[in-house]
Amino acid sequence: MEWCVSMPKIELHAHLNGSIRDSTLLELAKGLGDKGLIDFSQVEHVILKNDRSLAEVFKLFDVIHILTTDHATVTRITKEVVEDFASENVVYVELRTTPKKNESKGMSKHSYIEAVLEGLRAVSSVDVDFIPHSEELKNLSNPLLSTTNDKCNENTRKKIFVRLLLSIDRRETTEAAMETVMLALEMGHFGVAGIDLSGNPAVGEWVTYLPALKFAREQGLCVTLHCGEVPNSREIHDMLDFLPERIGHACFFEEDHWRKLKSSKIPVELCLTSNIRTLSVPSIDAHHFVDLYNAKHPVVLCTDDSGVFSTSVSNEYKIVRSSFGLGRKEMLELSKNAVEYIFADNTVIRCYDAYELTARDATYCYYVSRQ
Ligand code: 5GP
Repeated sequence: MEWCVSMPKIELHAHLNGSIRDSTLLELAKGLGDKGLIDFSQVEHVILKNDRSLAEVFKLFDVIHILTTDHATVTRITKEVVEDFASENVVYVELRTTPKKNESKGMSKHSYIEAVLEGLRAVSSVDVDFIPHSEELKNLSNPLLSTTNDKCNENTRKKIFVRLLLSIDRRETTEAAMETVMLALEMGHFGVAGIDLSGNPAVGEWVTYLPALKFAREQGLCVTLHCGEVPNSREIHDMLDFLPERIGHACFFEEDHWRKLKSSKIPVELCLTSNIRTLSVPSIDAHHFVDLYNAKHPVVLCTDDSGVFSTSVSNEYKIVRSSFGLGRKEMLELSKNAVEYIFADNTVIRCYDAYELTARDATYCYYVSRQ
């Protein structure tokens, strides 16, 4: 485990409200309990329960969302989540979250994302890079490159690249989905790099989100889709035909889905613990990681909801090592390959006056420097 923690890692499938520390959730619940707004002991039980079906996971999210409704809390959890990933040597994370409206708190989708950005600014344990092409970068003492040569160098201070994906919840209407895409476009200069489709897979229809997803693509946003979390053959075909930049999970795929996926080379975000805990896959031995890995299909190991499923990126690598016997070299390769699938844009960023790199190359360079 120690080695898995020390290796640099890339996290591409992490839901903000699913990645909150239990201690923070309990503290927030206690606060609302003390005010008589919730029954603390009931919520405590729900938070600390270990095994949950996928349906129960979505009930838990309803509870979590009651605890995280104001701007200050959204800022706090964002800061903590990024610090937690950085502390286990994640060098690049794409954090996804569903922009929320809450009139009673004066919250709009826009102000929700502002609160998330505030959380990124509040991180103190590590440098956070989340503005892809800001003039501010010129003035930062960028640890990526030395001033004397263009080789990747060891940092004195840790850094984490953060990009945001805005999630469309499957309960939303076409208009609401479109609003999220517009917001993502508006916030592009703050590191919003793409759109995710998530939420309870038993709810909603593909055609509802399609116009917004098409528009996102036309405007140059990358798209990732939760795909095949439940048996729904038609929807899986429709999603693969859309050719998203990535998909998540792919649990309930049938032969013709696998064929289509493999020929399309769409990278798959795999969340082993999440799939086992929710019984989407019967056992780790039966997990499709093995088949995709052996077929050299692009995959990336992710947590999904590190808080809800009590896992970490390091733990996902440890599982791959203990269950499938991957060696250190293979694990490093698996992790490094993920740089190819990141949504950070290819806009050139300035690292010192003399050097220019794309965000992707900067991430790669930094990853290598941390190996
Ligand atoms: P948030 O978007 O509020 O930051 O993170 C929690 C939300 O992410 C949940 O309400 C749900 O919409 C989505 N989510 C988290 N985990 C999963 C998952 O395993 N599958 C799906 N489909 N959605 C998820």
